[in-house]
Amino acid sequence: SLILGIETSCDDTGCAIVDNEGNILGEALNSQHLIHLRHGGIIPPIAQDLHRENIDNVVNEALKAANITCNDVDAVATTVKPGLPLSLTIGMKYGKYLCKTYNKPFIPIHHMEAHALTARMHDPNIQFPFLVLLISGGHCLLAIAQDVDKFLLMGQSHDDAPGEVFDKMARRLLLKNIPEYSKLSGGQAIELAASRATDALEFHLTPTLLKYRDCNFSFAGNKNQFQHHIKKQERKFDLAPDAVIPGFHNLCAGLLLVVTRHLCHRVQRGIEYAKLKKLIPVDRQTLVVSGGVACNNFIARGLEMVCEELNYRMVRPPPKLCTDNGVMIAWNGMERWRTNKGIVNALDSIEIQKSCQLGET
Ligand code: ATP
Ligand code: FE
Repeated sequence: SLILGIETSCDDTGCAIVDNEGNILGEALNSQHLIHLRHGGIIPPIAQDLHRENIDNVVNEALKAANITCNDVDAVATTVKPGLPLSLTIGMKYGKYLCKTYNKPFIPIHHMEAHALTARMHDPNIQFPFLVLLISGGHCLLAIAQDVDKFLLMGQSHDDAPGEVFDKMARRLLLKNIPEYSKLSGGQAIELAASRATDALEFHLTPTLLKYRDCNFSFAGNKNQFQHHIKKQERKFDLAPDAVIPGFHNLCAGLLLVVTRHLCHRVQRGIEYAKLKKLIPVDRQTLVVSGGVACNNFIARGLEMVCEELNYRMVRPPPKLCTDNGVMIAWNGMERWRTNKGIVNALDSIEIQKSCQLGET
């Protein structure tokens, strides 16, 4: 069977067709990243206009690459939650339109479940239940994926998501004024700057929540400390208004280090808790790391060290599957299609949802 997937939850218009073995028959992606970069962040009505402008082309491009028409697919899977309402609406309407025109069932998809399940497409050996860390632009979640439609939430961020912190701090540092950094996402820019640091400990940032015996996350404190360091540097040097402060490499390295330590610490707690409560069979102990921030090699190396120490296997999908794309939506649709879960024929009953928690707590 074949599933067509549509993603428009944020600033990427994506479409893909996958088969039951996880082969990608065709895919297309239109990123709005560079346009939003000019505005200093995503402006929802602009994102909506761009989705509306591009969705038809993106879907047709994916179908063309797969050398099929919409008649050949079994169902249409589309992200309906969580995300920007204006963005989600475009994908949902387009998905419904395809279903109506070609008489196909609709499979509503939860964007974060899709980030988590992509790993099973990349590596079919991953069986439920597995531990999953989702780190992205809007979320920071630690959960146990128990089934296609069943997640146990172990912890989440009290405030910002790590990708959001990287994006905001890269903007605050004016990194896009450096040509080499001008086209990178905030996370990529911070990673590149950090890789050129001479001393990651020059600017001290305090690890958060060390005394809390749960698996939740917090990044706001470090963000404030980081901004404080920037202000101090700005006072120390007499800089042009569009100049990047001296020492920014070390500053970025300090931020990446403290975020990595925090993620590692919370994951370590999560693994120990799962062991204590016997939530994951000993022969299946796997940590999946996904979401845009999972592209970060420094963070991944830290998490790999934790996994090695605790006898877990770590799986990270390739970067292009970690950030938003149509493939993960099509694949989640396939996981639901072949287990007959959440397939909808009554199109009117489907609504978008701005926020929606992953699984149960
Ligand atoms: P969500 O999935 O929570 O709805 P989103 O869909 O906007 O958020 P993704 O596309 O999954 O987010 O990820 C984008 C985020 O990943 C951005 O915040 C970006 O800065 C971050 N990111 C991308 N590459 C890297 C990297 N190499 N290191 C750190 N962060 C990165
Ligand atoms: Fe995402």
